[in-house]
Amino acid sequence: MSAPTLDTSVYLDRLARVRSSMTEHDVDTVLLSVGHDLPYLTGYEAMPLERLTMLVVPREGDAKLLIPGLEAARVTEQPGVFDLVPWAETDDPSAMVGKLAAGSSRIAVGDQMWARFLVELLPHLPGATFTRSVDVVGALRMAKDAAEIAALAAAGAAVDTIAGELQRGEIPLVGKTEAEVSSYLGRRIVEEGHQRVNFAIVAAGENASSPHHHPGSRVIRENEIVLCDFGGTMNGYCSDTTRCVVTGEIPSDIAEAYAVLYEAQAAGVAAATAGTPCQDVDRAARQIIDEAGYGEYFIHRTGHGIGLEAHEDPYIIEGNELPLEVGHAFSVEPGIYIPGKWGMRLEDIAVTTDDGCRSLNNSDHNLISV
Ligand code: ZN
Ligand code: ZN
Ligand code: ZN
Repeated sequence: MSAPTLDTSVYLDRLARVRSSMTEHDVDTVLLSVGHDLPYLTGYEAMPLERLTMLVVPREGDAKLLIPGLEAARVTEQPGVFDLVPWAETDDPSAMVGKLAAGSSRIAVGDQMWARFLVELLPHLPGATFTRSVDVVGALRMAKDAAEIAALAAAGAAVDTIAGELQRGEIPLVGKTEAEVSSYLGRRIVEEGHQRVNFAIVAAGENASSPHHHPGSRVIRENEIVLCDFGGTMNGYCSDTTRCVVTGEIPSDIAEAYAVLYEAQAAGVAAATAGTPCQDVDRAARQIIDEAGYGEYFIHRTGHGIGLEAHEDPYIIEGNELPLEVGHAFSVEPGIYIPGKWGMRLEDIAVTTDDGCRSLNNSDHNLISV
């Protein structure tokens, strides 16, 4: 399910900002299809099918939403935002887009537009060069408005409820397979109000040393760490949190490493203030893990942006000098992974505010014995 349809004024405002960004980036036309830029600008999500749905946004003049005729009934019209252009089964929609975008020299396309659509468009747009729409839509999408932050917070609170159950020992672990616990978490994600489960990683013991472990037939035993990383989409916006528990007594090597992880995660959140480059948030978390001697076991970036998509800009990684702005939402999720032994990660979604950084996940951050 896509985001709920918003007031037309929201889309008009977003479109106006995209157009000024197009001028700034010297983009003549934006073409959006499958993916999340389209619903962000129109409230309509393209069916992920071979028939072309495409929003054509010229820098000046009306935006047109080309749509397979049979799907026109699904569109909520937004007067002033776009004109609907349904195409019939035997029409050539690529040629129609070619006509609408004729004369454009620089065209921005959505990341998730299928290669097939772009390949079919190329002969109709001779001389045009292409760039990613993230240049013109990404900055807008990164800076969430109050309604978007409220949606992210609601999704975060919903998964926090499940994390609390995990931490109170209310979710049976010992004797269950990872896959069984994963499907249980998935059911709870939906029961707590999400429309879609995006992932429910459950990794026990040595399996937790693979950050994106696929939950399988491994049976969870006593006295081992269990990493649970789960999230879904609720009213268009994503949740994503990671908590670890230990089934029984916490081994001392795990307790020592977790104390470092806890501190690193808190340092990352504390660093994520407006104006701070993304890479400095990564550095703040990584420095603590490095100094404790676990640096080589922290094998991924500190975080990713989140919103309509589970992973989107901004990425919290060395080399990303983009300064955080109020409304940027992203994960802070350092991890320590000892190959073949165990792994751990602690993940919250955070939002930069005009007064520091607000965490949207608030379940217990400690490593709890269940
Ligand atoms: Zn991940
Ligand atoms: Zn996660
Ligand atoms: Zn994440």
